[in-house]
Amino acid sequence: ENVRAHAHEYFSTFLPTAPLDSQKKPRILVICGPSGVGKGSLIHKLMKEYPGVFGFSVSHTTRAPRPGEKDGQDYHFVPRAEMEKLIEENGFVEKAEVHGNFYGTSIRAVEDVQGQGKIPILDIDVQGVRQVRRSDVEALYIFVAPPSQDELTKRLTGRGTESAEVIAKRVANSTAEIEASSEPGLFDHVIVNDRLDTAFAELVALLHQDLKLAAKQDQEQEK
Ligand code: ADP
Ligand code: 5GP
Repeated sequence: ENVRAHAHEYFSTFLPTAPLDSQKKPRILVICGPSGVGKGSLIHKLMKEYPGVFGFSVSHTTRAPRPGEKDGQDYHFVPRAEMEKLIEENGFVEKAEVHGNFYGTSIRAVEDVQGQGKIPILDIDVQGVRQVRRSDVEALYIFVAPPSQDELTKRLTGRGTESAEVIAKRVANSTAEIEASSEPGLFDHVIVNDRLDTAFAELVALLHQDLKLAAKQDQEQEK
């Protein structure tokens, strides 16, 4: 608890000064980082510890589901032809080819979460971040970095969801992703996920305005 309080106080000094209350919709949370760094773990913890505040924006992907992944919950798993059709109809906020598969955020995925009055969480790659940056949406952009590439390999191997070949490809791609994290104007903050609890405390501290606003809106609705 002390670490969390300290992180909260320390990081709040870096927050933008524009009051979020002036925005009609809550800003989007964009989480980016190499495969296996712990984005999913952080997102899962955030949604568990702040129920009703955040909603995961369910992306479309052409990759095959992993054991345990649910269609419509983790991703909308679609064949390439359906993905191309949707893209042609201009139904995507952003889309990209990542590690050999297509991924994209549909406008509907974000609007569904916003319609529930929740903060949309986008778990997207660097190419997607660049596209969202070019749009006019209000968002907080966070890059999650690994303590080392060896640790990244260990985590991906430990997760046991990808073949050795796919793991090697994902770790190789992480070099460019980590390089992009220091590109001027791309990310608002970089969190190194060494210990999960510490990284989570940093994330919560960065979101303190958003959480305050969500709590205020909750109180107003109860009145
Ligand atoms: P991503 O969503 O970024 O691909 P995951 O959240 O699936 O990554 O995490 C990859 C693996 O690493 C999982 O097995 C997870 O339990 C583990 N993991 C996540 N964060 C940490 C951490 N800080 N220390 C050790 N292992 C971690
Ligand atoms: P995974 O296959 O491990 O679920 O995801 C692989 C990579 O694709 C991760 O970097 C993840 O952030 C990214 N990704 C997932 N969904 C999207 C999306 O909708 N758009 C983009 N651009 N990247 C995505």
